[in-house]
Amino acid sequence: MATPLHSASTTDSTEAKVLAPLPYELPPLPYAETALEPVISARTVGLHHGTHQRGYLDKLAKLVVGTRFANMSLEGIIHATSGVAAHAAIFNNAAQAWNHAFYWRSLAPNGGGRLPAPLAARAEASFGTIEAMIAKLSAAAVGEFGSGWAWLVQDGANLHVMTTANAGTPLTERLRPLLAIDVWEHAYYLDVESRRADYVKGVMDRLINWQFAYDNLGA
Ligand code: MN
Repeated sequence: MATPLHSASTTDSTEAKVLAPLPYELPPLPYAETALEPVISARTVGLHHGTHQRGYLDKLAKLVVGTRFANMSLEGIIHATSGVAAHAAIFNNAAQAWNHAFYWRSLAPNGGGRLPAPLAARAEASFGTIEAMIAKLSAAAVGEFGSGWAWLVQDGANLHVMTTANAGTPLTERLRPLLAIDVWEHAYYLDVESRRADYVKGVMDRLINWQFAYDNLGA
């Protein structure tokens, strides 16, 4: 990703590394907490961003103190710890922090609707129709067992739908993420209880940010 999604300010890094965790900056929401209503309530957005996402960053900051990961970007940490059992906690918190920053940007007030034309052309080439792509992404989000994520990704000329469990992220598969839908219960339970399909339908109809997906498209 071109835009760094976190920063760990390093005023006196040697001493700070030993003494205390460097705080990671929580990326601000790209809109007001109320902006995703009525699909996602301000209460859900506030807790999800201010408690869950912040929690992953705070845990990560503690876990990397004094390690070689302390001054890496989130992407760097994700690649360096993916699949390494001894670093699973660092991977999980770094990947969740990255996934959440990407998720908020995958949504927008007044989302849904028409796709930018070049993205629509890619969708039709990969899935037959835009409706088929939306149906596949929706089904993946609804059907993912337990906690995880549904993704629209790019692999060269093709777009794909995939899911990841828990903190998994397409970054480790060398796929380019275009959109993410969080299907952990904390993303929807306060609003629709166990009706994940209602959350997913609301997201796809009213919030999904096709412009962000288009902006993420590579060559
Ligand atoms: Mn989440």
